[in-house]
Amino acid sequence: MPEIITIGEILVEIMAKSVGQTFDETGEFIGPFPSGAPAIFIDQATKMGSSCAIVSKVGDDGFGRLNVGRLQRDKVDVRFIDTVHEKTTGIAFVTYRENGDRDFIFTVKDSAVSCMTRDDVKEEIFANCNYFHIMGCSAFNEEMIETIKKAIVIAKIKNAQISFDPNIRKETMEDEKIREFILFALKNCDIFLPSEEELKVITGIGNEYEAVQVVFEQNVRSIIVKRGSRGCRVYEDVSSFDVEPYEIKEVDPTGAGDCFAGTLISLLNQGKSIREAVQYANAAGAYAATKKGPMEGTATLRELEEFIREKGGNNLCL
Ligand code: ATP
Ligand code: MG
Repeated sequence: MPEIITIGEILVEIMAKSVGQTFDETGEFIGPFPSGAPAIFIDQATKMGSSCAIVSKVGDDGFGRLNVGRLQRDKVDVRFIDTVHEKTTGIAFVTYRENGDRDFIFTVKDSAVSCMTRDDVKEEIFANCNYFHIMGCSAFNEEMIETIKKAIVIAKIKNAQISFDPNIRKETMEDEKIREFILFALKNCDIFLPSEEELKVITGIGNEYEAVQVVFEQNVRSIIVKRGSRGCRVYEDVSSFDVEPYEIKEVDPTGAGDCFAGTLISLLNQGKSIREAVQYANAAGAYAATKKGPMEGTATLRELEEFIREKGGNNLCL
């Protein structure tokens, strides 16, 4: 049974061809690309050499086959991905604004993965689980919230560490049920991986240091605040350190956070320290942002080492 497990949406992404293009007018799009934040995470974690699985559902269609085929090619354990006949695989359409922001149209709530229930979470899946990774974006309906909560409880009984990437937008916290779920996840996680904005939105505290202290009042051991092109900051109980970014030409930032998390958790699973693991995670996030397509930027350890060498080596600042 796999050592790293995640749960949630598998999607295809259909991307606008030009920056500035909007959904309000006819335009050219390219795709389908394999996507879904948990799927990108697990693809990256597997490429880094850990045994990994995702619990999910796809439709009986080309979009589902594209995704499962990619995950299989990259050696993800796909046994716990079910095919649903009544619904299609989820779709995310994305457009890019001039200022770097992205707009999305999602069909996830009506897609195959929306048929997931608590019964899909079976204790035996977690028999060898060391890390269970959860994401706020997967809490897209009430049953899914209960499904992830059940999985968290089982993972904890099996002594797995819980890593939590909120991956939410500001408006998400306005939904009382999702808000309650996010706070549940925060209370139960060991490793918390918010962006700067997510840390603010979830704690309601603008000052990062104060927000981090409030999170540490829960059981969280490590907090890593992701800062996009400015790298990241790692907080542990009594210490913190910055990891300086790699300089890149950003092509497509979608998936950077998931590749960061996949690399981090995979290396922690292999016994690396957080200082070592985060260095590679920082490189993986930057590397992903140089590739067009959400899952096209996943990388092996060898590819990351090559990237780090090209960029002039070790960027860790103590
Ligand atoms: P998303 O949820 O959109 O995938 P995120 O907010 O979770 O993104 P980011 O901060 O965008 O995560 O990216 C994760 C990490 O990847 C950053 O902390 C940084 O280490 C690296 N990274 C991302 N974008 C860049 C960039 N343009 N240049 C250098 N490093 C980057
Ligand atoms: Mg994110």
